[in-house]
Amino acid sequence: MVEANLENFQVCDRDLDAATLARYQGAEALAIDTETMGLVLGRDRLCLVQICDPSGYVTAIRIALGQREAPNLKTLLESPQSTKIFHYARFDVAQLKYTFGIATAPIFCTKIASKLARTYTSTHGLKALVQELTGIELDKSSQSSDWGNPANLSPQQLAYAANDVRYLVEMRSQLTAMLQREGRWELAERCFATLPLFVDLDIMQFKDIFEHK
Ligand code: MN
Repeated sequence: MVEANLENFQVCDRDLDAATLARYQGAEALAIDTETMGLVLGRDRLCLVQICDPSGYVTAIRIALGQREAPNLKTLLESPQSTKIFHYARFDVAQLKYTFGIATAPIFCTKIASKLARTYTSTHGLKALVQELTGIELDKSSQSSDWGNPANLSPQQLAYAANDVRYLVEMRSQLTAMLQREGRWELAERCFATLPLFVDLDIMQFKDIFEHK
């Protein structure tokens, strides 16, 4: 089990401060995750946004009730300089667009990459992926917990939130190598490029419009 690791970690409120924005703006890639009150877009609010750069420096931004703007976060996530890495980007990118109007790009999704590359398994959760590719066992015990009172998040919750972004940069590089080896890198890039479309359809609550039924 991974110990609560709160090194190279800071918490800030409502938005990135200018110095942290500047620090992250130079990164080639950034890992992003969010914690929410649940999985229903529009009902369940955004509570926390976690960011990790390739050096492993994590920031958790506590989002306030009713907050509809985060200009520095928007600047960072819309910057074409850095690839934004998510595990199941469709959910987090939709939350960020719905809440703050952020059009995140460019995107790398480790779940899509895993599905295209790791066809020898049907297990594509973050825990299984990190376990296979790094040997590290993530503690997901805080996954379903109350994120709605950001001032009182426990050290366990903060460590969980930080660990959810710490391994994504490494996952991206290993999955990219697998996709290139299997001749599926271009297909993956085309999948990532369609994510904003899926996000917009999700926000409008269209379901399965590509299906026959
Ligand atoms: Mn998470």
